[in-house]
Amino acid sequence: MSPSNKPGDLAGATSVTAAPKTIPARAPSRDSRRTADAMPGSSDRPGLSGLAVGALETWLLATGQPPFRAKQIRDSVWRHNAATAAELRGLPAALQDSVAAAFRVDTIEEDEVTVSDGGLTEKTLHRLAGGALVESVLMHYPARGYAGSGRPLHRERHTLCISSQAGCAVGCPFCATGELGFGRDLETAEIVDQVRHAARRLSATGRDLTNVVFMGMGEPLLNLDRVLESVAILADPLLFGLGARHVVVSTSGVVPGIRRLTALGPQFTLAISLHAARDPLRDVLVPLNRRWPVAEVVAAARDHARVTGRRVSFEYVMISGVNDTDVDADALARLLHGDLAHVNLIPMNPVAHTPWQASPPERVAAFAARVRHNGIGVTIRANRGQDAGAACGQLAANRAGEPPAPTVAHRREVIVRASEAALRGERSGEGLSESLEKAVEERAVRASRGSRP
Ligand code: SAH
Ligand code: SF4
Repeated sequence: MSPSNKPGDLAGATSVTAAPKTIPARAPSRDSRRTADAMPGSSDRPGLSGLAVGALETWLLATGQPPFRAKQIRDSVWRHNAATAAELRGLPAALQDSVAAAFRVDTIEEDEVTVSDGGLTEKTLHRLAGGALVESVLMHYPARGYAGSGRPLHRERHTLCISSQAGCAVGCPFCATGELGFGRDLETAEIVDQVRHAARRLSATGRDLTNVVFMGMGEPLLNLDRVLESVAILADPLLFGLGARHVVVSTSGVVPGIRRLTALGPQFTLAISLHAARDPLRDVLVPLNRRWPVAEVVAAARDHARVTGRRVSFEYVMISGVNDTDVDADALARLLHGDLAHVNLIPMNPVAHTPWQASPPERVAAFAARVRHNGIGVTIRANRGQDAGAACGQLAANRAGEPPAPTVAHRREVIVRASEAALRGERSGEGLSESLEKAVEERAVRASRGSRP
């Protein structure tokens, strides 16, 4: 009988090119309360879905197997979304056993699925090797706007929002993932297995995944090598086969990473999380701004649009009384004037540890009108899955447990003080936190050089 190779077999650390070794199965720890505490962990058996081109062929050759097995395995992984070795179609049981001993067929374990918005939003909490939790959110957009011909003007879409890191070092104060702190980078297979998981769920009802957005947990440009590998796999017609235009990667503004992407040419649509057009406020809302100020971020985005010919979108979370005034709208319009850009306004999802609320709908509409009046395209994004803990990272944060009340109160006080000073136009002069400084030093330089660790 073939071993099942469920993600529960996970163990040890991965590299897509490392020679696979067999190690005893180890159950993931269930008692770690916080994502960040559950580090490090992974497996020394690489995930099948993250293998570099040719790696499977090399392994088959080394184990005396015919090369045509590679196609069979790939078809099972990508066309049939196999989760266990037993689901590798057409393989003799002995080879299924060998594959399971050398690789993991699935690298993520489904921990919890929460459905909201009357079935339109499905949020999944995945458990990784070592116990870290990450989230993905599947959003269904039915076809709409039927024309005279009876054909929809907008085709049905199924968009998956995925995570690139467990936790995040950037620490934006309105974000549930930022509250968790940094855990670890996801492996390439752990990123693309979120996509295979959603594709499996969709195929059960005869539907296909149409779009993937890197807007879940983590800062993709601080794990850029793995994100690029994942995008290449998702775009490869022999693997997942999703068009590059159907992938969006969002960043909080890692300028060296944006510059590297520009040099590579168009791989996907780039989204920048702006949230404020003025430095004092952006220093507070997106702490990375203290390293790469807003003008540098927008200049990098402008060059990216010019070189790739692809419009850059700017995300702007609307926080009542903080970044939603007419002055902010005018500053935003001035900042993006003349650029190949589009703004998405997102009313803030309530997050436990912030003192802030979403801007009311009429304020969002007035802000949008003011920015549009200056010739910039604006979309107001509907919030999805509020009843399911919509802000990405919220399920994982809830699982980690509420911080003690005095900690929350203190944090809120600090945020209020900092944002009040920012609204008076004062920059605090504070640098990056120690953990963010470390993350930036270790990864941003790597992002600019394009090298693996
Ligand atoms: N780290 C990257 C990508 C993940 S976050 C980035 O920041 O761009 C994806 C998007 O969700 C970002 O635009 C982020 O600002 C937004 N977001 C985070 N917390 C939110 C909240 N509470 N309400 C609404 N949007 C939020
Ligand atoms: Fe990290 Fe993005 Fe959340 Fe900021 S908004 S803490 S960059 S995941």
